[in-house]
Amino acid sequence: MAVQLVREWTAIQQFPAATQEKLVDLLSKLKNQNVNTLTILVMGKGGVGKSSTVNSIVGERVVTVSAFQSETPRPVIVSRSRSGFTLNIIDTPGLVEGGYVSDQVLETIKSFLGRFLLNKTIDVLLYVDRLDAYRVDNLDKQIVKAIADGFGKDIWQKSMVVLTHAQLSPPDLLSYEEFFSRRSESLLKCIRQGARIGKTEAQNYAIPVALVENSGRCNKNEYDEKILPSGSPWIPNLVHTITEITLNGKKSILVDQKLIEGPNANDRGKLFIPVIVAFQYFFVIKTIEKWISKDIFRETKTPRG
Ligand code: GDP
Ligand code: MG
Repeated sequence: MAVQLVREWTAIQQFPAATQEKLVDLLSKLKNQNVNTLTILVMGKGGVGKSSTVNSIVGERVVTVSAFQSETPRPVIVSRSRSGFTLNIIDTPGLVEGGYVSDQVLETIKSFLGRFLLNKTIDVLLYVDRLDAYRVDNLDKQIVKAIADGFGKDIWQKSMVVLTHAQLSPPDLLSYEEFFSRRSESLLKCIRQGARIGKTEAQNYAIPVALVENSGRCNKNEYDEKILPSGSPWIPNLVHTITEITLNGKKSILVDQKLIEGPNANDRGKLFIPVIVAFQYFFVIKTIEKWISKDIFRETKTPRG
């Protein structure tokens, strides 16, 4: 397993004092519950603000942000520690390529996790999308399904939706709250459908939604904290929701060989055994039989002597 360099989380001091205080409170709440490590996996489409959100949480520019897709991006793990507490955040490349969910990207993420987090856990999944998107489609559902297939459906019990670009003016006639609730409802519905979360189990999969504004132009309050249009500072809100998911009593996702190689990786080949046997019987054996009978036929016809 590759060794991950854990650096001191000095950038926490870059936050305004009010934010720092809340963050330190939340971290000590986790430590009080014997949580000394928190590992967050960030996934979603490309360009939705995954990397920017990682930078916002850590408080420094640790991963590359780009308005236009750069050369094949790879997953990145950022580890920071503060008074015995370690925060790991894994930024990942967008899951969509050429209009389809990319199995290859998913495999890259999994093998990356296998190298850096083997036998450790993913405690929270941040599923990132933009607030200012006006519809969900089948592709969104496919992404959710791919995550559920690749990491197990239960990863959605440890997940939250992050909506970036939160500082927007909703289209005419809609209030901000209304726009936000419609957007989150349609995305949550899409997640329930994509992950096949039935009505009866929906309670077990209560997925919180948080708003994020990564832009440098984000409004601030009198304490210099970045705020949402509602006036509430979003970084402490986001970290608060992350702590709630961490402590929600559901099992974290263990990164083991089975997860990395996919379900029944060893059994998959076995499915083909009957096919191979049938092939051998009908093709190989039948052909040999045909040859033999032809030979016998020929032999009986050839005059001896
Ligand atoms: P990723 O591909 O999901 O990692 O997305 P990036 O973090 O690289 O962001 C893509 C582009 O969107 C960049 O130009 C960012 O500056 C911009 N961006 C990301 N989050 C926000 C946000 O919350 N508000 C605004 N206005 N721009 C954002
Ligand atoms: Mg990125």
